[in-house]
Amino acid sequence: MNRTEVLPGVWHLEEDYRVYCTLVQGETLALLWDTGQGRTDLAAYVAQQVPTPCLVLNSHGHSDHIGGNFRFPQVYAHRGDWPLLAAYARLTGRETPVCPLEPGQSFALGGRRAEVISLAGHTKGSVGLLLAGEGFFLAGDGLNQTLLLLGAEAAPLSQLRQTLEAVLRLPFAHYLSSHAPHPLPKAQVAVHLHHLDQLRLEDPSRPGPYGPRVCRSQYREQGSRSVLLIDRGLVGEENCLP
Ligand SMILES: [Zn+2]
Ligand SMILES: [Zn+2]
Repeated sequence: MNRTEVLPGVWHLEEDYRVYCTLVQGETLALLWDTGQGRTDLAAYVAQQVPTPCLVLNSHGHSDHIGGNFRFPQVYAHRGDWPLLAAYARLTGRETPVCPLEPGQSFALGGRRAEVISLAGHTKGSVGLLLAGEGFFLAGDGLNQTLLLLGAEAAPLSQLRQTLEAVLRLPFAHYLSSHAPHPLPKAQVAVHLHHLDQLRLEDPSRPGPYGPRVCRSQYREQGSRSVLLIDRGLVGEENCLP
């Protein structure tokens, strides 16, 4: 498994092609951030690499982030995404006990502290993890360069705006997203926010994997790019150009 140490004791693990999980090691406790598609035996990896107990946290409830939950005795996830975890458990026949993960909750890992932050937008129950005092943030899919607001699990655009504004006020310089190998600068969050002021939603020119009811908008600013794919239902038909 490809892995990159992005900070001392913080490894970005490529669980499957372009699907990343993150392991955060403290002196007394470790956190595994997401379990990927479930193709790699992360429980065996953790047992081998981690000398302390390790809690498993889900950034949100999409299947490429919870696919390996079944390998662990329990996981933490935001209640807003519990329906997604339950649906996936029904689909796979594999149920894992889930504990609530609340914004404001904080984990003392020994020598480092991780704080749970709401990233509602991509899904209603998306959360991030701020490594307090280290200027670093784990964002799951909540701040990907291409932001997806799709399906009943997504929050409305107004919620995404609130989330981005709140994230900009947080003390960090770089963040990890779950589908990029390297940390992104916090400036990307401002680019997303500026994009929301300049939205130009159009039907995708090519049929994509997300179906016909999806609008797309793209925005560029000083070499950075923000792309938004959003269900028409979340913006109202009148906001989509014909
Ligand atoms: Zn996702
Ligand atoms: Zn994802």
